Amino acid sequence: MSLLRKAALCGLFFCLTPNAIAAWFSDTRPIMGTEVSVSLWSETSGTGKQAVEGVMAIMEGVNQRLSPYIPSSDLAKLNSEAAKAPVLLTDELDLLYRQSLWMFHQSEGAFDITYASVGHLYDYRQKIAPTQKELEAHMVALSTRHLVYDAKARSLAFSQPNVTIDLGGIAKGYAVDLAINYLKGLGIKHAYVGAGGDSRILGDRRGRPWVIGIKNPRKKEGGADTVIKLPLSDVAVSTSGDYERFFIDDTGQRIHHIINPKTGKSASEVMSVTILGEEGIATDPLSTAVFVLGVQKGINLVDKLPGFDAIIIDSTGQVHYSNGLMPPSP
Ligand code: AMP
Ligand code: MG
Repeated sequence: MSLLRKAALCGLFFCLTPNAIAAWFSDTRPIMGTEVSVSLWSETSGTGKQAVEGVMAIMEGVNQRLSPYIPSSDLAKLNSEAAKAPVLLTDELDLLYRQSLWMFHQSEGAFDITYASVGHLYDYRQKIAPTQKELEAHMVALSTRHLVYDAKARSLAFSQPNVTIDLGGIAKGYAVDLAINYLKGLGIKHAYVGAGGDSRILGDRRGRPWVIGIKNPRKKEGGADTVIKLPLSDVAVSTSGDYERFFIDDTGQRIHHIINPKTGKSASEVMSVTILGEEGIATDPLSTAVFVLGVQKGINLVDKLPGFDAIIIDSTGQVHYSNGLMPPSP
């Protein structure tokens, strides 16, 4: 074929399908107090760029509606009004409340969105933890049992003053579900969406699995970033770690963001919990719950619930697996 004819044919091809550049489209942005990453395969650059922007807009929308720090958010309004009178829940808050209640019961109270009644006394950046006296004064407000739900009216009231809800243990997993469902709707078949420790993947990486790494919870300078690599497809993965937000106090104790609702203090039995399951709205709170429960009770819970698996790194660095991930015994 002459050079001229080849050029003419190429011209025709781009003319008919100006957008037809199949490629990976990726971006990472700071949203929801963490890093949101997306990577997706699109047959056209128009859809690819639109999809990345769409995912970021979904994540920012969740932040605006569910951040307890944004006074206009649905959650902030609930927190400021519900001790005075029942507050009507949005569909989203209703869903997240019911899912949180389910996890509260499954975990025998280890997952409790009212943890924030004492949780807000901690400031990890400023290295501030409550005194024992402050803790005791606020612990009375920490219990999901103070939440009075009216299923018919779909409203929530607080039976105690000073109750505070925070959805930090479930909102990111929920947000990655929203993003993946949006991508499915656009016809995307291969994608990764991550928000901090919560991620979900759609399909495979075009013939290869996605590889999700479990972070080394005590990474030393020059050491490996990840301790375990998981080849996966079509799954939600949530990791809770004591290295995400923490400080070391004067006594050498690690004060971090996962609170044991029974004590009001950081849970200390394990360093990291990874949960695999179908949806982030379940893997996210389950990873937090198992972190609080520790190895034995945590593995028992995961083995009891169909469709989930767990990898736990305990406080000595030993790795524990749920039944579904155990190599079959000889
Ligand atoms: P994750 O990183 O998913 O384990 O979630 C940790 C986040 O969940 C924290 O930053 C808090 O916002 C919230 N959280 C901490 N402790 C609890 C708890 N016991 N129950 C529910 N949410 C919690
Ligand atoms: Mg979690």
